[in-house]
Amino acid sequence: MTTQKFDNLINGQWIAGASYTPNINPSNLADVIGDYAQADAAQLDSAVKAAQTAFPAWSTGNIQARADALDKIGTEVLARREELGTLLAREEGKTRPEGIGEVTRAGNIFKFFAGECLRLTGEIVPSVRSGISVEITREPMGVIGLITPWNFPIAIPAWKTAPALAYGNCVVLKPADLVPGCAWALAEIISRSGIPAGVFNLVMGRGSVIGDPLVNHPGIDAISFTGSQGVGNRIAQQCALKLKKVQLEMGGKNPQVILDDADLAQAVELSVQSAFFSTGQRCTASSRLIVTDGIYPRFLDAMKQRMAGLKIGDALAAGIDIGPVSSKAQLEQDLSYVQIGQAEGAVLVAGGQRLQCSTDGFYMAPALLTDTTAAMRINREEVFGPVASVIRVKGYEEALAEANNTPFGLSAGIATTSLKYATHFKRHSQAGMVMVNLPTAGVDYHVPFGGRKGSSYGSREQGRYAQEFFTTVKTAYIGS
Ligand code: NAP
Repeated sequence: MTTQKFDNLINGQWIAGASYTPNINPSNLADVIGDYAQADAAQLDSAVKAAQTAFPAWSTGNIQARADALDKIGTEVLARREELGTLLAREEGKTRPEGIGEVTRAGNIFKFFAGECLRLTGEIVPSVRSGISVEITREPMGVIGLITPWNFPIAIPAWKTAPALAYGNCVVLKPADLVPGCAWALAEIISRSGIPAGVFNLVMGRGSVIGDPLVNHPGIDAISFTGSQGVGNRIAQQCALKLKKVQLEMGGKNPQVILDDADLAQAVELSVQSAFFSTGQRCTASSRLIVTDGIYPRFLDAMKQRMAGLKIGDALAAGIDIGPVSSKAQLEQDLSYVQIGQAEGAVLVAGGQRLQCSTDGFYMAPALLTDTTAAMRINREEVFGPVASVIRVKGYEEALAEANNTPFGLSAGIATTSLKYATHFKRHSQAGMVMVNLPTAGVDYHVPFGGRKGSSYGSREQGRYAQEFFTTVKTAYIGS
């Protein structure tokens, strides 16, 4: 049986790839979703040039038309949420309800930024010189390169593309090579939205082949990247050399603190959700459960019991809690970190092994490691899978110190019934996002998203704060 071919979108045209790569369902390796184009450097160059050509008209064009187009995209994404959520579950391995949730988020983001097209404001301030006034306005940056990871195949392309377009920029999107299907579907919707040719371009392919030239292309004015710290670090250096604006959202080693006074059932539920749902493949997943002495034995027993009831299986099957790991390489990494933890002295109390399900896929039983210390690799390096470790501490002060004892700083959670500790934690956690009695993962789409330390670099994404990256400030002096 021949599989369908999916091409790149360059200057409003569907352009055949230099080659194609199969998109394979991690729940069922026999299921090929389609063959997706691999762009080469020449096609990337065409996409950047198309965006440059489209920029003058788009950046100064009618903002009602811009808002209408973004609204139309959001409407179609929302209307097709079940179909696109199924595609997402099929290519990435989130469960179908999680996939539908992510697509809903993507649609809502386009709706939100449709409104933002009409809400950009400036300032008029008096000059210190008489007879002169000063206008401070925001203008689009130009052509933006967007590079996205595999773990949110539609939400992250949406949360970069929507503000980029809303503020008048043109875009070249390079999605993760592992999951091009949702980005292609989004591009196809954008191509019919009324947005002129060249304003939005999709180039699919490997980061090493077209990601690198995209970052370094002289026609690219700014790069918004989400992915690993290693790649982000390299991109930051390349952008610095070329004096390009850059925004990086990277990994996490997010702590979930459980205090003695926590509601036990709530603490267990939010820990299981944060650590293992979406197969632990969320930058905001909590991989370090920091538990105080008084609740430790009860928490551990309840966690083991809850984990024993988790249903792992085909992402498209009904009633599944956790789908497969997204790729063979990621599964091998997850399993190897379980071994690394044990070799360092951690005790594996649940899961941690590969599972066989009814279809051949990358299934893994969520792993819980106890007796871990902050110095262990398992507590310092991002695993990016269903692997959590427990750190036992004496009380709140030690818990806070452990929570902050990490090179990352994306999200941090605390489970407590104490207003005093919740308030103190909110203020003193060294993370960009803090959750009180909520999972560390799961955020709203209309407020800023991002972290500190090794998790983020540059200005925040999402909500109104996105305008900081996608616009540049102009100060105009008007004499009489
Ligand atoms: P990755 O390996 O860093 O890849 C991210 C993107 O960069 C992919 O599109 C990749 O292309 C591309 N890329 C690779 N090498 C490149 C290069 N030399 N130049 C330019 N682009 C290049 O990350 P991932 O494995 O896809 O995603 C997982 C990571 O993303 C985790 O660390 C996770 O924490 C992080 N993440 C962070 C956030 C956040 O908002 N903080 C959100 C989600 C995920 P290929 O696909 O071809 O490799």
